[in-house]
Amino acid sequence: MRVFDKDRAVEADPAFIELVQELSGEDVRKCYQCGKCTAGCPALEEMDLTPSQVMRAAQTGLRDLVLDSRTIWCCAGCETCAARCPKGLDLAHVMKALTSLAYAENRTKAAPEIAAFHRSFMDTVGVLGRNYELGMIGLLKLRTRKFLDDVALGMKLFAKGKISLFPEYVKGNAEVRRLIREGLERDRAKSRASTAEAPMPPGRGGEAH
Ligand code: SF4
Ligand code: SF4
Repeated sequence: MRVFDKDRAVEADPAFIELVQELSGEDVRKCYQCGKCTAGCPALEEMDLTPSQVMRAAQTGLRDLVLDSRTIWCCAGCETCAARCPKGLDLAHVMKALTSLAYAENRTKAAPEIAAFHRSFMDTVGVLGRNYELGMIGLLKLRTRKFLDDVALGMKLFAKGKISLFPEYVKGNAEVRRLIREGLERDRAKSRASTAEAPMPPGRGGEAH
């Protein structure tokens, strides 16, 4: 696990906290850095920032640091942190909001395989209105080019009837597709608006203070 990386961009964007609060529905300002979320997080070993560091970075407007982190993609949404947080914050909501923003901005380099999984899932649900594991796995394999990984596991699941051969459409799948598209467009619009509102940092045409 790495902590703050001195080589990564850490410019502050004061509008970022408002955007995170709006998208997550969580009052990120309440976090007082007790670290209980980090101490109980089962995905910590996969993360480059701890959950409490993500909260602090969101509070202080370190937009690039957060959106380019691996942590936001590693959150399993297990809610352990929410159960432990003395301020009643649900970090899974915050992580989800940050992942949606990173996805909308196409910032997926920190965890390309997790992002490929996310994209494959959304594409499948966007077409069928529900998941179709075989189709999703096919898309994932094409994106990651790891054709032989997990073949034995896939065969086992198939043999137990956990993976169906044929897809099923949901009535109203076009509506599901519309909702997914609108959600993505909304996240992009909010991201653009927030970036446009942020004061230009010194050295990029902004006023130095
Ligand atoms: S447990 Fe809650 S208050 Fe404590 S660091 Fe985590 S988010 Fe902040
Ligand atoms: S919801 Fe995410 S951040 Fe919170 S404990 Fe689970 S994996 Fe960690």
